[in-house]
Amino acid sequence: MLECNVQSCTKPRKGFSRYCSNHHKTKARHGHPLQKPVTAQELKPYIKAVVLWFEERARGDTEDLLRRTWIGLVHEAERYRRLANKGQPFFKNLLEAYDIILSANQSKDFKAISNTMLAMGYLYEANPKRFADETAFGFQCARRLRALSDCSFGSRWDHQSGKVAKVYRDVSPKTLRALWKLILDTKFPVYGIKLAKEDLKERSHWVANEQIITQALMGEAA
Ligand SMILES: [Zn+2]
Repeated sequence: MLECNVQSCTKPRKGFSRYCSNHHKTKARHGHPLQKPVTAQELKPYIKAVVLWFEERARGDTEDLLRRTWIGLVHEAERYRRLANKGQPFFKNLLEAYDIILSANQSKDFKAISNTMLAMGYLYEANPKRFADETAFGFQCARRLRALSDCSFGSRWDHQSGKVAKVYRDVSPKTLRALWKLILDTKFPVYGIKLAKEDLKERSHWVANEQIITQALMGEAA
């Protein structure tokens, strides 16, 4: 019997997968068998850092550039959806990815979307070990964007309560990959990484300066 490909795991492999049932599922959901999902709660301080950075240091044209990039992607998504509706051939997973873009654009304002994607880049720069690999990072970016859309929940008639119940709908790895590719084209996470580099460097300077001031006040040789 072959064991799961994850080193610390001794469970049997599932069917043709290289992993056991649990690790197989995690890989499909999060891009890597050992990747833990990034929650909205976890991302909060990074979103705050991005918002602060925009308030204090970003020039107005940075926001304009991001907004134009996002609008460009939304137009692309509308076009793909329109052609599919007219009966043109389409890639199912790409269409699903575009629909997530359109849904996020409908439910959230541009800043919420942009800040979330930039914050993912910030988190990556501040704590690269949080991600098992590049694919896992891509899946988490795609999942955070999808969480801003209405695509995560469907409705189902609950016979027992006699009400419409909200049910969580998962998404296929192929769609997450397609969505990640679209996000990567906008460069939002890459801008987030750059922003974090600059921000963290400035913060470390600030700490160093404070030390120098303290040393000066205490009469120590700097
Ligand atoms: Zn396993």
